[in-house]
Amino acid sequence: MEKHTQRVGIVGAGVVGLAHAWSAAERGHQVTVFERSPRAFGASIRNFGMVWVIGQPDHVQDVANNSRDRWLRAGREGGLWVNPCGSIHMAHRDDEWAVLQEYAAVNQAGSRGSWLKLLTPEEVLQRSPAANPNGLLGGLWSDRECCVDPTSAIRSIPPWLERQYGVQFHFSTAVVHAESGQVGLASGQRHVFDRIIICSGDDLATLRPEVFHGIPLRACKLHMMRTTAQTEGFRIGPHLAGGLTLRHYPNFKTCGSLQALSDRIESETPELNQFGIHVMASQNHRGEVVLGDSHEYGDAIEPFDRQEIDGLILRELHKILKLPHWNMESHWHGVYAKYAEGLVFEAEPEPGLHICTGLGGNGMTLSFGIAERAWNRWEPTNE
Ligand SMILES: Cc1cc2nc3c(=O)[nH]c(=O)nc-3n(C[C@H](O)[C@H](O)[C@H](O)COP(=O)(O)OP(=O)(O)OC[C@H]3O[C@@H](n4cnc5c(N)ncnc54)[C@H](O)[C@@H]3O)c2cc1C
Repeated sequence: MEKHTQRVGIVGAGVVGLAHAWSAAERGHQVTVFERSPRAFGASIRNFGMVWVIGQPDHVQDVANNSRDRWLRAGREGGLWVNPCGSIHMAHRDDEWAVLQEYAAVNQAGSRGSWLKLLTPEEVLQRSPAANPNGLLGGLWSDRECCVDPTSAIRSIPPWLERQYGVQFHFSTAVVHAESGQVGLASGQRHVFDRIIICSGDDLATLRPEVFHGIPLRACKLHMMRTTAQTEGFRIGPHLAGGLTLRHYPNFKTCGSLQALSDRIESETPELNQFGIHVMASQNHRGEVVLGDSHEYGDAIEPFDRQEIDGLILRELHKILKLPHWNMESHWHGVYAKYAEGLVFEAEPEPGLHICTGLGGNGMTLSFGIAERAWNRWEPTNE
C-alpha cells in the first residue's frame, strides 16, 4: 500500500494523546499536539504509575503486553525511568488466599502461567521488605508489571517526541472546535489536518459533546497520597496490592471464590464499598511511595476531599504494609472517565475525526497498545 505523510492533529497531551502522537510520528506523519494546560495536568500525572498488565482481561492481553513493551522502549529511547518491578497481590485473609490460589490454578496452563507464581509468606518477604508479615498467608507474583513516575514521564515524553520525531506541541492552547479536516483554537486560529484525534480525558463537554450523548461514560474521582522518600534507600520491590484489590480488576472476576471475599467485605467493612476503596502501593525512583485509592462515581463526586476517605485508605494499608515511615509529602485526587461497556471508548463521528477516551483506571497500562491498535486499523501494513 502506498504511504503518504499525513498531517495529524491531536487534542490533549495526557497519556492517550501522547500514545497516539508517538504511533503517528513513527509512521512518518507530521504530528501536532494541542494541550490547553501549560503542562500535562490531568489523570495521566496523578496516578500510581502502574503498568498493570495482570489486571487486564484475556481479550486485551496482547494490547497490554504491547503497551508494556512500548513503555520499556520509551524508557530506553526517551530516557524515562521505567522499572520492570513486577507485582505481588498479598493475602492476609483466608478468602483472599482462596482467590489467589484459584486464579493461579486456572491460569497455570495459559500464557499467563509463565509469568505468575504463588508465593509462600517467606517468599513474599524475600521479594518485598514492605509486606506486613502479621497474618500474611501468601502472595501471587507476576513479572509483567512496570512502574513509571507519572508526572515526570508524562512531562518528559513531549520533549523526547519533539527531538526524535519533530512532533510539535502547543501548550496553553485550548481547542474549542473540531470537525473533519480542521480544529479551531480559542485564539480564533484554524489548523487543517488529514486526521484528528480527540484525547480530552474526562472533558466530555467541550468537543463534540453530542457524540457522548447516551454513551455510558462516567467520571470517577480517586484519592491518592505519597510519602516522602523512604529512608536509607529502602525499596518496596514490586508493586504491592492487598486482597481488597481482587474485587477491583476484571481479571479476577472469573474466580468463583471471589464472591465469599466480596460478601465478607460488605458485611464487615461496608464503608470500603461506599467509597470504592482498595489498596495498592508503588514506589518511584526518588524513593517516595505512592498510595491509594478510592473510587467515587458520577453525581457523587464532590470537589472537596474528605479526610475520612484518606483515613480509611491508610487504615487498610497499615494492615498489609510495613514502611520505615508514613510521613506524607502530598495528598491529591484525580478524575478519569470510565466507559462501562468496554475498556476504551473509540468513535469516528466524521471521516478522519476520531475520539479516544474512557480508559478508566487502565490508561497508563493500555494507551500505548490502544494507539498502536488504532493506527494499525487506520493504516494496515501489507508486508
Ligand atoms: C488517581 C488515579 C490513579 C490511576 N492509576 C493508574 C495506574 O496506576 N495505572 C493505569 O494504567 N492507569 C491508572 N489510572 C488511569 C489513567 O491515569 C487514565 O486512564 C489516563 O491517565 C487517562 O488519560 P487521558 O489522556 O485520557 O486523560 P488526561 O490525562 O486527563 O489527559 C487529557 C488531556 O486533554 C487536555 N484537554 C482536554 N480538553 C482539551 C481541549 N479542548 N483542548 C486542549 N486540551 C484539552 C487536558 O488538559 C488533559 O491534559 C489512574 C487514574 C487516576 C486518576
